[in-house]
Amino acid sequence: MSEVIDIQGLRDVLVLTNKYFEINRNNLKKAEELLEQMSSKSLDSINNGVDLTDIRFTHDELYGLAWSSSSDPDKPAATIRKYRPQLINLLDEDSNLSKYLIESGSKHLLSFDSDDVKGGVKTTHGLTLKTSSHITSHNVSSITIYKTVKIPKPNWWMKGLMKVELEGRNAFWFFSVAVICVCSLALIPYIILKGLVSGITAGLTIGVILAASIGLFYQMYELMEKGVSKAPDIFTPFRIKNLFFVTTRKPKFNSDALRPKVIELLVFEGRCGLCGDELFIEKSREFKGRYVGKCAIAPQEHVFSFDHINKIGQHLR
Ligand SMILES: [Zn+2]
Repeated sequence: MSEVIDIQGLRDVLVLTNKYFEINRNNLKKAEELLEQMSSKSLDSINNGVDLTDIRFTHDELYGLAWSSSSDPDKPAATIRKYRPQLINLLDEDSNLSKYLIESGSKHLLSFDSDDVKGGVKTTHGLTLKTSSHITSHNVSSITIYKTVKIPKPNWWMKGLMKVELEGRNAFWFFSVAVICVCSLALIPYIILKGLVSGITAGLTIGVILAASIGLFYQMYELMEKGVSKAPDIFTPFRIKNLFFVTTRKPKFNSDALRPKVIELLVFEGRCGLCGDELFIEKSREFKGRYVGKCAIAPQEHVFSFDHINKIGQHLR
């Protein structure tokens, strides 16, 4: 045991190994029973914080895991020596257990490790990790590809906003809303200063109009400025992640030189190029207000750009 073993890696493999034996519970041979006991004892020790160098089994201990105690003191050592080749075979790259580990996405395989007998020191055995040529490790990539996916359970009013072509009347309405927002924002201080409103209800109404106007105007402004704007929380009652308004162009039917702009409501999905975990897309002050894709488990280190048109993300940091 000279090599340093990744404790999390070993724990993950042991969990899968126990699952494999659980599935095949009804037809285990003696060597498999012994390996199963070794695996679950090792996992218990890891879970109890035992140091890896101490998770070793003497001949007697291994024997005790699968057989009832013997009165013959030489029997445990002889038995374990007899079973050792079988244990090694069970962990072979092509064994059923190893195949199961590979299929389950394990990064390592298990290896049966015995230390050399030195004078006066008892031989111990343990389970360690080994790498396998059959396991293709996750390709670390400096780019990530985003996908657009269907919006789960859109509301009726969301459906109307899922695709708005900025053409003719729609464009007119779009810009009218923007103008109305600006006007109402400008009018409110005027109304208040002139003392045209009084009472709590009127004040609240103005507050709501003000908040809605600012929100709507900011959304439109950002959409025009960046081509992408995160949908407000009222759009995400079912915790839809990465829901965005984006500007695109109408699909090409003929050789129109300039196709009309379209505003679409889309859900984006991305996987971290470095570790394969989920990306969540959010505005980052660090990248000057750009939307970036951050890895769910390493948001500080695995950061990708977010391009809603060609859907490619470059590794930023
Ligand atoms: Zn990551």
